[in-house]
Amino acid sequence: MDSSTLLEPHTVVGLPTAPHVITRGEGVRVWDTEGKQYIDGVAGLWCVTLGYSEPRLVEAAAKQLEKLPFYGSFNHRTSDVTVALADDLAALSPIPMGRVFFGNSGSDANDSAIKFAWFYHCAKGRSHRKKILSHHRGYHGATTAAGSATGLAHIHNGFGIPLPGFLRMHTPDVLSTQANGLSDEEFVDWLIDELELLISQEGPDTIAAFIAEPILGAGGLVVPPDGYYDRVQEVLTRHDILFIADEVITGFGRTGSMFGTTEFGLRPDMITVAKGLSSAYLPISAVLVSDAVCDVLARGSQEIRSFGHGFTYSGHPVAAAVARETLAILQERDIPGRVRAAAPVLTNALDKFLGAPLVRDVRTYGLLGGVEFDAAACGMRPGEPGKELVTTAAEHGVLLRFAGDTVVFAPPLVSTDADLEEMVDRFAAAYRTFL
Ligand code: PLP
Repeated sequence: MDSSTLLEPHTVVGLPTAPHVITRGEGVRVWDTEGKQYIDGVAGLWCVTLGYSEPRLVEAAAKQLEKLPFYGSFNHRTSDVTVALADDLAALSPIPMGRVFFGNSGSDANDSAIKFAWFYHCAKGRSHRKKILSHHRGYHGATTAAGSATGLAHIHNGFGIPLPGFLRMHTPDVLSTQANGLSDEEFVDWLIDELELLISQEGPDTIAAFIAEPILGAGGLVVPPDGYYDRVQEVLTRHDILFIADEVITGFGRTGSMFGTTEFGLRPDMITVAKGLSSAYLPISAVLVSDAVCDVLARGSQEIRSFGHGFTYSGHPVAAAVARETLAILQERDIPGRVRAAAPVLTNALDKFLGAPLVRDVRTYGLLGGVEFDAAACGMRPGEPGKELVTTAAEHGVLLRFAGDTVVFAPPLVSTDADLEEMVDRFAAAYRTFL
């Protein structure tokens, strides 16, 4: 196929060749226009957690389309299924969360959480608290505020973001501890000193919130060292800085718990979710907001007689129906338990790359995996090995993503042991041709 009229997201615009077109999916596999079959090693974009052919989700969507295809949620009117999904999510939340706000994407969930943090501080008479902290290499989306919180240059280049007041902290990447000769504990001390210094230089009363992923995904699968988030939370609480946990990837089973918040002992004021909330069958996202924050939002909103935030499709009934069914399946089938059982299979398969030529590191957590390559050893520029490897992997029948020099694995959570092994075998075949 020649080039297409589609303005493709996250791609160099105007490539002379047409995009690779996928036409069909079944289980953990997809097929392209040529009829070539691939194991989907990244579940679409870390999101098709229940695989491509879950009939219950199709049925839930069809039934809701017949019953009420749309009703919005503005001006104190909404649909029954939207209210029910909010209740389901509040009940499932890893820590008590009083209210649930709906959006359509991970980016708008994070934009919303950032705006809620601003509204919260305004309502407390502290409208000067606007700054947002995040990690270098953190990914929070591509909209203006979430993109500003994102710590990846390719999201900023050409767009004039980050906006002023979005401040970045060092990536909690233990590989850099080894490079600097620090123990994990010393590295955590160093990170916390950096956080304290940043807060005191900027002034605590200028900072609204800190947004972070429990495990950094698009930044290269970075699992923060033990004890890191405990220490971060202590500092944030001391300075009354809100903590937003971005669980867009880690939510709904990926880590082996329903939420990464549980795995890492987080106590966020807000949790943002999307992707796995509906197994990506329809777009929907949510911000789970703590009672303490809600109380202030409510007070502020009543004072100014407004809470001017929301989208036409906030809590879209069809997406909500699919999300409710997704949550039911996740619980009935104990998908987090399945992830805990499958995680050693992924780890064993990927650990074979430890110490292999050109490989710098291998990391796994739940059904997340990363094989990091050493660009210099590959004789390439940073970013090039991953790109070349995922292209070769596709030729060998497995779809993967790269994040910097890390090839990332995030298969559907319903992958069997055999699927996981085949996925890694296909990647291994690609790796051998790369050597
Ligand atoms: N937050 C995280 C952690 C993500 O990984 C992503 C997308 O990959 C987003 C936010 C943005 O989500 P969306 O692409 O749905 O806007």
